[in-house]
Amino acid sequence: MTNSAIQAITGHPVAVQSITVLGATGSIGDSTLDVVARHPDRFRIFALTANTDVEKLAALALKLRPRYAVLRDEGAAEQLHALLRQRGSATEVLAGEAGLIQVAVHAEVDTVVAAIVGAAGLSATFAAVEAGKRILLANKEALVMAGHLFMDAVAASGAVLLPLDSEHNAIFQCLPLAPGVASGGLAQMGVRRILLTGSGGPFRETPLDQLARVTPAQAIAHPNWSMGPKISVDSATMMNKGLELIEACWLFEATPDQVQIVVHPQSVVHSMVEYVDGSVLAQLGNPDMRTPIAHALAWPRRIDAGVGALDLIAKGRLDFQAPDYQRFPCLVLARQAILRGDTAPAVLNAANEEAVAAFLSGRLRFIDIPEVIEQTLAQADIVEPHTLADVQRADVAARDLALAVIARQSLSLQPL
Ligand code: NAD
Ligand code: MG
Repeated sequence: MTNSAIQAITGHPVAVQSITVLGATGSIGDSTLDVVARHPDRFRIFALTANTDVEKLAALALKLRPRYAVLRDEGAAEQLHALLRQRGSATEVLAGEAGLIQVAVHAEVDTVVAAIVGAAGLSATFAAVEAGKRILLANKEALVMAGHLFMDAVAASGAVLLPLDSEHNAIFQCLPLAPGVASGGLAQMGVRRILLTGSGGPFRETPLDQLARVTPAQAIAHPNWSMGPKISVDSATMMNKGLELIEACWLFEATPDQVQIVVHPQSVVHSMVEYVDGSVLAQLGNPDMRTPIAHALAWPRRIDAGVGALDLIAKGRLDFQAPDYQRFPCLVLARQAILRGDTAPAVLNAANEEAVAAFLSGRLRFIDIPEVIEQTLAQADIVEPHTLADVQRADVAARDLALAVIARQSLSLQPL
């Protein structure tokens, strides 16, 4: 339905949303821009950001003509500036963390899609929260790291926080209220439990004695979802589900024992909410991130996402299993970290990011990822964070510890 049609029916115009996409060159960035392009009368791209990818950001800037294009890397930003001037583009190029924050808080921005991967997204995402924007959150690591401060900032600024993570978006769709809106917790809504589904990744059935030898290429080949490399490895270790458990606790004011992880290999049920009367509501769909993105972009309305109809008859069956904690120790570590609280989730996340990077670059075996995280958590000082800087200090310190553990693990890999 076009804006003018909606206006004719409701009498209310649909304002055009001005959007900043943080992490525009990634997998979530691609899906977001695909949905946005389907609705030029609803959405306008204000700013696009990336880390170092000059070519891709230049191509996007020339096509979408945003007011700003930002590269985190200063040298890459200079190249982008030269390239866009040469092509006669009016897009202004900004650089560094300051540039990311500038486009996240700009007065002309309504919606910020937070799709930078990892801790690198924390400052800009947090700045958007403090500026009271409508935030479409993919960057779960930011919320995991700064949970309490993050949700307090949402409440203080009046930001609207809408989850893009498919599971949390599904839970949100099955709840009567938006996350971050003072709901009084799950009990107030008559919710008994959240059932957080996960596929189990590519190694759900790999013989345990073969896990030591799995390669990065095997780990990032997810059976159902097409995603960036870091989250793909997280899915293979199931740390992704661990981070999502923590994410669910913050978004929905849940305790860890109110969140049950359910392995569901087909990735059709994206999560469920169980109510005290025994009702279980689920959100189903094809595994395509454009569905949660379109949902959050248009919320509380619905728009076409370009996603085909779910063919349940072709799927034939849906399976559900208990998670295997021996195979996926990261699930245990994540649960322990949220129960421990304070900076433990930030330490968990930092150690995981370093371990995943080491695995992807061939410096660490797949099975050593949880080992690195466990040792880092055991050695780190866990403190109560009062400010974002406290969280960032914990992150930096944990990375140093994790890198030392990785160096030891890598040495033990050398042939004698
Ligand atoms: P990706 O690796 O495909 O893209 C990451 C984006 O972040 C890129 O645009 C990159 O330029 C930018 N970036 C990376 N490092 C940066 C830095 N230091 N500074 C500034 N920008 C930086 O990742 P993705 O798969 O799109 O995931 C993005 C986020 O969304 C992650 O937090 C992930 O957990 C979450 N998420 C992704 C999916 C998915 O289907 N891909 C699903 C759910 C949640
Ligand atoms: Mg998810």
